[in-house]
Amino acid sequence: MTLFEKIVARQIPAQIVYEDDLVLAFRDINPQAPTHALIVPKKAIPRIAEASSEDHALLGHLLLKAAEVAAKVGLNENGYRLVINNGRDGGESVPHLHCHILGGRALEWPPG
Ligand code: 5GP
Repeated sequence: MTLFEKIVARQIPAQIVYEDDLVLAFRDINPQAPTHALIVPKKAIPRIAEASSEDHALLGHLLLKAAEVAAKVGLNENGYRLVINNGRDGGESVPHLHCHILGGRALEWPPG
């Protein structure tokens, strides 16, 4: 079971901000911005590179819900960033697909 499957199963506690049949969103344990949440599919796709065409609707749902969660946690007015890290150079540390929702300060570009 991945770390995020354990959060989905409530085996590990998290500050949950949104849940439906397909996705779960919760606060990041080590926030990199004043507001930092993660949204994950309940299905354990390891990373975006390993998603397949059967995940088409799920990935669309994940992104639409990421925007809804961003609004719910107060980021709509000033904006926010959605980030998906893939693989070693992308900075992925948990092998369960997740989209970061970051905001509450002006974020730099390009990322480090
Ligand atoms: P990645 O580096 O794979 O893109 O992002 C993984 C994220 O998961 C990191 O931002 C990290 O802080 C977060 N994270 C790791 N373990 C936990 C945990 O047990 N609970 C929560 N809420 N977030 C976690």
